Amino acid sequence: MIVAKRPLIMMAATAALLGAVLSGPGYPSGKGRRDRHEIRNREVRNIIFMVPDGMGLADVTAARIFRNGIDGPPLHLETLEEIGYQRTYSANSAITDSAPAASAWACGEKFNNGEICFHGDGRPYLPSILELAKRKKMGTGLVATSTITHATPAAFGAHVANRNCETEIARQYIEVSKPDVILGGGMKKFNPPSPDLCGTGGDIAAKAKQDGYSIVRTRDQMNSALDAGETKLLGLFAPEGMTPEILRADGTAEPHLKDMTVAALTMLEKHRKGFFLMVEGSQVDWANHANDVKYQVGETLAFDDAVKAVLDWIDSTPERRNHTLLIIAPDHETGGFAINGPNRIPQPGECVTAGWTSGNHTGTDVPVWAQGPGSEAVGRALENTDLYRIMREALGEL
Ligand SMILES: [Zn+2]
Repeated sequence: MIVAKRPLIMMAATAALLGAVLSGPGYPSGKGRRDRHEIRNREVRNIIFMVPDGMGLADVTAARIFRNGIDGPPLHLETLEEIGYQRTYSANSAITDSAPAASAWACGEKFNNGEICFHGDGRPYLPSILELAKRKKMGTGLVATSTITHATPAAFGAHVANRNCETEIARQYIEVSKPDVILGGGMKKFNPPSPDLCGTGGDIAAKAKQDGYSIVRTRDQMNSALDAGETKLLGLFAPEGMTPEILRADGTAEPHLKDMTVAALTMLEKHRKGFFLMVEGSQVDWANHANDVKYQVGETLAFDDAVKAVLDWIDSTPERRNHTLLIIAPDHETGGFAINGPNRIPQPGECVTAGWTSGNHTGTDVPVWAQGPGSEAVGRALENTDLYRIMREALGEL
């Protein structure tokens, strides 16, 4: 066999090219991989669980092309070190809604569509991750751009047979689960004109105030409450869902998802025993229900801005980096969204040609991203209920 001798200079050039190709624009270096192994076995103090509701992998591609171009750097959420995917079916359907999907993460079992960590047939259910964190005297927080009593945050802070009982969910937040920080839309659910489906009504916001919550309705009020050192915060920034990003005027009084996320971190980081925080970009789902690609890209990028705020917070000290488990998980895909073009290279700032198979949720698996101690368990094919076990173990409860 004859082996051609390659000139050394060519080998060096090839290695440099290979290095450039492998590292790419903005991709994690080998150092990140080493860090990952060093922090693998450290104790978890903080869990941050972030949900882009109804987001499939094609949504990530569309948002990345819009922001960075087709060969540009990844979105922030894509830079996490562990990537896996999860099955999303509920106990009674191949197509889940957000109630059992979030309940699978929060309470560790498959539930029927519509159920919030509650079995309609009377079977017992487990406490949620937020409730377990509360028992361990950790700080707790819920942030969303829907009503804050919508299905995804609700699964972490309430137990109800029907997700539409939003005033009952509000009551349970204030009287039972008591998260330290509650930020989102849904003012009307905290003082409805008539009782909800569960028969719960009344002025829940007044009760919250009695119980020591500072109640804020604008971004400025939220920031003033932080400056004043408030320790319990209820922010209700819209009567129902918050304003979609593409419809927001400059200087709106409503905080963006990243503003609420930073506010929650600022309050929760004071807890000496750590914290559990859930952050939802609720309206990626609504954009996909509407088959509206501009709305979808706007919400996905606003969610990614919140991810950047979290990564900046984590990376600012070794203590945070070594002891914070971050998981990012959509609950299901919505719309059967596909990228059908253009049949040329799209430019940054351009929306892809969108295709859709439905105006509802679909049954496809969805991705999961994670980093921090305990995150190595995420890098594989998962059931959505596995995320409960991973977080519970991180809390030292297994
Ligand atoms: Zn939906």
